[in-house]
Amino acid sequence: LRYGPVPATIGAMAALRFPDRTAIIDERGELTYAELEARAAALATALRDRVRADDRIGILCRNHRGFVEAVLAASRLGTDVVLLNTDFSAKQLADVAGREGVGLLIHDEEFGTVVDDAGFGGARVLGWTDGPALESIDALVAETEAEPLNPSRTSNVIIMTSGTTGTPKGARHEMSVGALIPAALTHLMRVPVRSGAPIVVTPPLFHLLGFAYSTVGLGMGMPLVLARRFDAAGTLRRIAETEAEALVAVPIMLQRVLDAPDVRVPSLRVVVCGGSALHPHVSDAFMDRFGDVLVNVYGATEVGWATIATPDDLRAAPGTVGRPSLRLTIRILDEDGTELPPGEPGEIFVGGGLRFAGYTGGGGKEVRDGLTSTGDLGHFDDAGRLFVDGRADDMIVSGGENVFPGEVEALLGGHPDVADASVTGVDDAEFGQRLAAYVVRAPGSEIGADDLKSHVKEHLARYKVPRDVHFVDELPRTSTGKVKSRALRG
Ligand code: ATP
Repeated sequence: LRYGPVPATIGAMAALRFPDRTAIIDERGELTYAELEARAAALATALRDRVRADDRIGILCRNHRGFVEAVLAASRLGTDVVLLNTDFSAKQLADVAGREGVGLLIHDEEFGTVVDDAGFGGARVLGWTDGPALESIDALVAETEAEPLNPSRTSNVIIMTSGTTGTPKGARHEMSVGALIPAALTHLMRVPVRSGAPIVVTPPLFHLLGFAYSTVGLGMGMPLVLARRFDAAGTLRRIAETEAEALVAVPIMLQRVLDAPDVRVPSLRVVVCGGSALHPHVSDAFMDRFGDVLVNVYGATEVGWATIATPDDLRAAPGTVGRPSLRLTIRILDEDGTELPPGEPGEIFVGGGLRFAGYTGGGGKEVRDGLTSTGDLGHFDDAGRLFVDGRADDMIVSGGENVFPGEVEALLGGHPDVADASVTGVDDAEFGQRLAAYVVRAPGSEIGADDLKSHVKEHLARYKVPRDVHFVDELPRTSTGKVKSRALRG
């Protein structure tokens, strides 16, 4: 390693430090850090004349090397990237691409129809193709000699929120080494992932959790293990084959892993879970099987990772999302903006953390005295551990009583006859709203609605007992594991 120009991008920094180390393991095999950066450099050169000064590059790809190469190429060009959700309909894609100024789109072949239907008018490159399509990353890389590029500006990454509460908003984050590394380090002080040890990243790379962990992984010289789609057995197999030490996942993925046939994964030391509520029965069962390896991270696209619960926190206070990351402030405020003491629920506000550069299209979450609202309600316990009670918008008001669906979902989900459960509010002439539960029975179970209602009545207040119980084969979920409650209600 020699002194040279200061590397401008995470990819250049990693290639300088760990040239011969494996950077990516995906279905096409392995790629070293030097190879990855060389490909990104060639791609950046090939794309230079296709993006106009103010254009952004949209990425609509599954998890594979092409996604990472596109991001690294954009940061070499100093161009912003917009990460597009692979669940987007043609209409959502058209809206977001138009609003976010996407002039060049890199997408997998499988999304060609959606892109055509969206009427996307700009340039296109295929990120992943088995055939000899001309405009694929592979073809461009093969026919281009990389030229040195000195980006005159730092590129931003625009990550779309999940759109759980309406139209997805674009949260803009700076992609520089200077912005990402300090944020990552405050997180990594509590999460013992190791440079050089493979990390399996299963959440989509277009979502904050997947994107941030892939970036941190590259910055630290970890081999990133990627697969186009999540499957529980495949995930365990990949951990075993690559002797991975870390796994990143959303709660529903951990649930699926628990249902998968047992595969020994002795190398696994850290499992980072986040993105939606991790119910105690899942964290307990997971740690009983895989050891005390699990951490629960709570955050949102705008604020990054706000808290971390270590295995000790999860054992001592099941359901907690843990304590604030270093140099990050969390306050529980009431409607007037007054801070509330431990035990009292209010709205969760976050200050510090990722250098959030704002929403691209305006709008978004409330900011008060430099603190950003998460839109979630929660409380601290006396030991300083945070609990997320649920989204303010999801709270059900039934007969004047407030009910968080998460509490009832956690209880139902922990029942041995239940594989999955979701609770939502439906309009009711008498009570304003009433609770409706959607339940997937465990394989072989024939449990009925009355048994489940009695189970809830035994543990919770009477007004928390769902009046309707619907048995379904599967819950509709987004690719980041959130239940699409609107789709459930029909
Ligand atoms: P939109 O803002 O478009 O409605 P969204 O809020 O779902 O979408 P994300 O930023 O993807 O967008 O999700 C953040 C939300 O996910 C948090 O505000 C919280 O409700 C939930 N969440 C994330 N991690 C956790 C966790 N560990 N435990 C409980 N809830 C979590």
